Amino acid sequence: MALKELSTTQSSPKHPRDMTEKQDYKDTVFLPKTEFPMKAGLPQKEPGILAKWEADGLYHKLREARAGREKFILHDGPPYANGDMHIGHALNHILKDMVCRTQTLLGKDAPYVPGWDCHGLPIEWKVEEQYRKKKLNKDEVPVKEFRAECRAYAQHWVNVQREQVKRLGVLGNWDKPYLTMDFDSEATIVSELLKFAESGQLYRGAKPVMWSPVEKTALAEAEVEYEDITSTQIDVAFEIVESPIAELVGAHAVIWTTTPWTIPVNQAIAYGPDVEYTLVEAHGRKLLLAEALFDDAVERYIRSDAIPVGSGWQVRWEGKGSDLAGTIARHPMHHLGGFFAKPRPFLPGDFVTTDSGTGLVHMAPDHGEDDFDLCKAHGIEPQFAVEGDGKYRADWGWLGGQGSVINPKFNAPDGPICSDLREAGGLLAASADYQHSYPHSWRSKAKVIYRCTPQWFVPMDRPVTPAQAGAAGSLAQPSLNKPIAAPASAGATILEDGPDAVGHAQGIPATLRELAMAAIADTRFVPEKGRNRIGSMVEGRPDWVLSRQRAWGVPITLFVDRKTGQYLNDPTVNARIVEAIKAEGVDAWEAARAQEYLGSAYKAEDYEQVFDILDVWFDSGCTHVFTLESGKWPELRWPADLYLEGSDQHRGWFQSSLLQSCGTRGRAPYNAVLTHGFTMDQKGLKMSKSVGNTVDPLKVMETNGADIIRLWALSVDFTEDHRIGDEILKGVADQYRKLRNTFRYLLGALDGFSEEERVSDVAQMPELERYVLHLLADMDAKLKVAVEDFDFNSYVRLLSDFANNDLSAFFFDIRKDCLYCDAPESLKRRSYRTVLDILFHAMVRYAAPVLVFTAEEVWASRYPDAESVHLLEWPEVDAGWVDISLSDKWSHLRDLRSTVLEPIEAMRREKLVGSSLEAVVKLRVKDPNLEERANSLDFAEVCIAAEVEVTGFANDAVDEVRQITFSGKTTHHKCGRCWRHLPEVSEDGALCGRCDTVLSN
Ligand SMILES: [Zn+2]
Repeated sequence: MALKELSTTQSSPKHPRDMTEKQDYKDTVFLPKTEFPMKAGLPQKEPGILAKWEADGLYHKLREARAGREKFILHDGPPYANGDMHIGHALNHILKDMVCRTQTLLGKDAPYVPGWDCHGLPIEWKVEEQYRKKKLNKDEVPVKEFRAECRAYAQHWVNVQREQVKRLGVLGNWDKPYLTMDFDSEATIVSELLKFAESGQLYRGAKPVMWSPVEKTALAEAEVEYEDITSTQIDVAFEIVESPIAELVGAHAVIWTTTPWTIPVNQAIAYGPDVEYTLVEAHGRKLLLAEALFDDAVERYIRSDAIPVGSGWQVRWEGKGSDLAGTIARHPMHHLGGFFAKPRPFLPGDFVTTDSGTGLVHMAPDHGEDDFDLCKAHGIEPQFAVEGDGKYRADWGWLGGQGSVINPKFNAPDGPICSDLREAGGLLAASADYQHSYPHSWRSKAKVIYRCTPQWFVPMDRPVTPAQAGAAGSLAQPSLNKPIAAPASAGATILEDGPDAVGHAQGIPATLRELAMAAIADTRFVPEKGRNRIGSMVEGRPDWVLSRQRAWGVPITLFVDRKTGQYLNDPTVNARIVEAIKAEGVDAWEAARAQEYLGSAYKAEDYEQVFDILDVWFDSGCTHVFTLESGKWPELRWPADLYLEGSDQHRGWFQSSLLQSCGTRGRAPYNAVLTHGFTMDQKGLKMSKSVGNTVDPLKVMETNGADIIRLWALSVDFTEDHRIGDEILKGVADQYRKLRNTFRYLLGALDGFSEEERVSDVAQMPELERYVLHLLADMDAKLKVAVEDFDFNSYVRLLSDFANNDLSAFFFDIRKDCLYCDAPESLKRRSYRTVLDILFHAMVRYAAPVLVFTAEEVWASRYPDAESVHLLEWPEVDAGWVDISLSDKWSHLRDLRSTVLEPIEAMRREKLVGSSLEAVVKLRVKDPNLEERANSLDFAEVCIAAEVEVTGFANDAVDEVRQITFSGKTTHHKCGRCWRHLPEVSEDGALCGRCDTVLSN
């Protein structure tokens, strides 16, 4: 702030015109007057302002005020209702609020209906955690009771988070949020699922999915995080029993793995067709492995004492992987018979590399995607040997009933697997020292595995056609004995033939993947890189695994025919189910009521009732239906103009909503998607409670106020990862203080401003006023572009820079003398105050979406009886204010001004002058145009100096563009009232001509 506060404490009892002694004119100057405090006190003030908004029904008033206007619908992505708001939530909600408020400011009807995601593992896990603390077993609690606790838990956190987000100043329909656990929502989710069923877009298949043995459920990619761990690595020898290459028979193929527990379900060995292999012999033992990995492997065997040091290796055969076709090995545990006695064929795998291991990869189709695909292509089916809790099933021939497979001891070099292999002569090396990145559940932090299980899927590559409604979906008992047939389009084994036998011929509609890719092309992404991000995910994603084996969620309400394995597709039955859930919620789906839903047309005993629940992403993927489309919130409409979430939601909500909507409505539920990055600590490190570098938004609000967090959130480049910390918040508080003081100055300088004083004809105003109006119009246009681009960082920067550089340090500073000392009726002073009034109305509106509380305080300070500032619309800025030639002139003059201010600052530092008003500066400029411009007005006034003399260079040949020729102190006396040093002032303390006239009238 460049403004100096003049003291208002002294006043003189003497008549101002009494010149006989030194006169004090302080009470004759027109000082700014305002009650608006410099110190914000936000933490104390904000709650009161919030309460007033709530009491006044501001959200609903805005709906009335904008009724019938163009709508802008931002659809809220539901956070999980399971914990306090953290800084990421705060940023997310502030951005959403900023979008709605700027659109509202533009005159649109931009409502905000907040929502919460209430079902699913995060909440179920928390409730189970409470059980575990009480030594209770979840499986012993009646499921309805358990769900009731989950419901209560979610409701508790909905209430907590609602108050926390409201405290940020986020304006929304807080009395009527949407919850995925509302009965209406649950019924809608079921009815949306049944749309997929009715159009044949569901199948039950088997496929390795990410599985958490601890949580006993399949997990979505978004529920998994990677961490570095140390695993046991083992080298296992499989004896070759058959091969077109005679030397190989009786030799051992060596495989390497970091998941020893998959060896009991090995079914084949993969080789790289182009990889070079070698058969080497030492100590009567022949080993087959990739040539490139031989040295590394031998080192491991020596370390494990499997092979003596210095063995003389003899090469017995060399060849390409493709030569190995037709080779067959046997499992080291083949003596157990049955499954273990079956041949282990060598299969060609493009995924085999020589990066690590042995170049021969053991295949367990139950537990790996490559394994599953390669084995399936060769008719080898998964065995479902590992159960949900991570133990082998009791009837498994080796280690039956043992596990869990994620237990490090189970996999250790001295654990049961390695011990048995060692005893059977199959273990070449084992060491617990392999470091790698491995997937973990982000909730339980436990390791996850790939596990083949029967699950319900939405196919990505099957034509989507409503004509298939009525056609049965597929499925069957996940029989372990039944051969699994019919290769599915996208990798899953369909347990029975489904409608995807339909070819993709002429006239056949697009697949879900094609529809989703087309919708991505039609959507606006901010930033644009989001398009590729979600695009590459959708392009490469497998079929959507819909089922979860949990209790707290929306059921997959299907009946499967026990004879045909097909799910029942009867709209009458479906309607009964949807009605029941609408009335009673998800508890209505229970075994005892199967016959009630099936009605008289079917017998309950002929059908298997499915009790899997839906992936919670399907729930949130349906929010657009039960919120935007339902009519329950009249202020909304479908589709949304904008979805706005963290960039991780390309994998989550953006995608599940896209797939859900494309599968049922053929297009995305949104027109645009905006993503933000993540909040790091001050040093750019990830925040974590254990590291202790988190910033709690609730605490920041308590100490600094919500407007400070808002200003932070809207100042950072949110499209990338960004930072927060004490130092950063200090900078933000400083930025806030400057904006606040700009408003304080405007309020004070406008004290008593009336319409009579207004200069309505801008053309009559001095150049400086017209120039500032030009700057305002210019910024106004840029702010609109920033709103359109959701570029809030630029929006706030434009506003701050304008307030600091154009107003405080320039316009206000130069016009201080005019405001304080010119006659109130002078055109110049009236022009200045007219422009200040225009600036006030514009600035308070621009600032309102950012500093929601402060803007209200500013507005109420000037108009105590007016309605909320947030009901106002975008300021009316006259396009006629734009004056390019004036702008060009003044930008040159401002540049010259800074040249003049340099020596003045130096003189002040050296105490050669007390204030810039005492300074005299003489300079030469090369540019005759600039010389003329400076002399066209009182340039000393612009520089707030006693005298500034601008002349040209006599000699054209000089190189310098500008040259200061003199700087020093004025010899003129100082006016006792305005403190300017002018030739007409007879002695220090006497009056200048202007002041004399002002006081005479
Ligand atoms: Zn004066």
